[in-house]
Amino acid sequence: MENVKAIIDHLKSGEKVTCPRCKKAILEPFGTTYDKAHSFSCPECNYEAHYTPAIDIE
Ligand SMILES: [Zn+2]
Repeated sequence: MENVKAIIDHLKSGEKVTCPRCKKAILEPFGTTYDKAHSFSCPECNYEAHYTPAIDIE
């Protein structure tokens, strides 16, 4: 199983990440920009990577 957290970390830092499933396309942010997206999807195979932000209660 791929490490989704690592994938998301790369994406949010502005790096292009190739889809870990089909390896044919780069993952794209869903509905917003790379730095704001919480979901990324692959246009080739519809793979989805979801990022759940940690909620810090202080
Ligand atoms: Zn794919």
